[in-house]
Amino acid sequence: MNIINDPLALQRTCLNWRSEGLVVGLVPTMGYFHAGHLSLMDYARSRADRLVVSLFVNPTQFGPNEDLSRYPRDPERDAALAREHGVDLLFTPEPGVMYAPDHATWVEVPTLARGLCAASRPVHFRGVATVVSKLFLLTLPGFAVFGEKDFQQLALIRRMVRDLNFPLEVVGRPIVREADGLALSSRNVNLTPEERRAAPAIRQGLLAAADWVRGGVRTSGELTTRLRAFYAERLPMSRLDYAEIVDPDSMEPLAEIPGRALLAVALHMSRARLIDNILLGD
Ligand code: AMP
Repeated sequence: MNIINDPLALQRTCLNWRSEGLVVGLVPTMGYFHAGHLSLMDYARSRADRLVVSLFVNPTQFGPNEDLSRYPRDPERDAALAREHGVDLLFTPEPGVMYAPDHATWVEVPTLARGLCAASRPVHFRGVATVVSKLFLLTLPGFAVFGEKDFQQLALIRRMVRDLNFPLEVVGRPIVREADGLALSSRNVNLTPEERRAAPAIRQGLLAAADWVRGGVRTSGELTTRLRAFYAERLPMSRLDYAEIVDPDSMEPLAEIPGRALLAVALHMSRARLIDNILLGD
């Protein structure tokens, strides 16, 4: 496995691969790998001639009061895991080489960056869309793989790729969970032991909501009222950031649950903000 931190060296390597007709698979990450990241790598490995993983805690997607400084990092362990999972090239740039001091160009997808995570993280998706665009142009992948845990991010990247004609396929992969149902996240290490014990209730609330829908609940208002009560009882140490029902492609809020709908939640714990989601209906 080759570890590169220079963007132009990465681009040169990937241009060569592409000109040889090799298909590059790209998995963008912020590191501190867990089984969710590794599942994306394994999928990409099975399809790609060359597998590129980026490990970059992108400062532009963090707001001023967010957890950039305490985002967990372990580059050596990450490199060992990447090697074990067949990664050909690990890209580990420093922020200074990704963003010149006078960096001035941003990619925005405003209609998909309105509700849900964008409401409390106003600059987040501009940072995501911009860094993912840069990674696409640096690696020229045939396909890029993202997790459905970050469902709004996935929908936004799909739209960006369609709108800007990036020549690649965006692949979404299912959420990998702990045995107790908690969605894996690098941020789970920031939970207190008490929060960690209670955290599976996030998923249990989503499963209960799916049951309520099967039992005939049809309005988003009733569903979210029930879910708020569920979390207030089961996760009293948390603060609900949002529980919203949206169209899974457009991220537009849905008042009713006619067919396919996405229920997405975010909760603040003392030192971590956790997200999860479930598809409802058909
Ligand atoms: P991150 O390092 O948190 O930016 O995540 C990198 C990629 O891994 C993103 O596409 C995430 O959606 C994906 N990912 C994070 N957690 C999980 C998970 N539990 N299951 C599947 N994919 C995940």
